[in-house]
Amino acid sequence: MSDRAGIGYDSHRFEAGRRFVLGGVEVPEAERGLAGHSDADVLTHAIIDALLGAAGLGDIGQHFPDTDERWRDADSIVLLGEVCRFLGEHEWRILHLDATVICETPKLGHLRDEIRRSLAGAIGLQPLEVNVKFTTNEGMGFVGRGEGVAAMAVASVERAD
Ligand code: MG
Repeated sequence: MSDRAGIGYDSHRFEAGRRFVLGGVEVPEAERGLAGHSDADVLTHAIIDALLGAAGLGDIGQHFPDTDERWRDADSIVLLGEVCRFLGEHEWRILHLDATVICETPKLGHLRDEIRRSLAGAIGLQPLEVNVKFTTNEGMGFVGRGEGVAAMAVASVERAD
């Protein structure tokens, strides 16, 4: 049995008039959202890169280039489902995910369970196998100034030798 781990990182800039979507869940009280070619779901993008990294299958930009009109305003949860199918075609089984969202404001912790259920449903895991954490940047850097949001993720996968 081969066990692998992968990391993912993403960041998106805040923009007025956009939706703020995290792990497929829209942040209801957000006054602004995130700019991007797709729905700019920064958490799901970090998770996609962690999964692709664990399986040694490249990165999100290779599979869903932001120059491709097919992915304009794409629902990133649909892209995550595509990536999980792709890993399955390569006989990788997804074991576990852990992620951190770094956002100064608004507070997001009350969405934790809903986001875990959303991601777990898309991946085919149990919510307890998809951990999501939230932190701020203590006022430092682009996150601290409220210019954008960052996310990091780790995924583990296994495959029979
Ligand atoms: Mg992204």
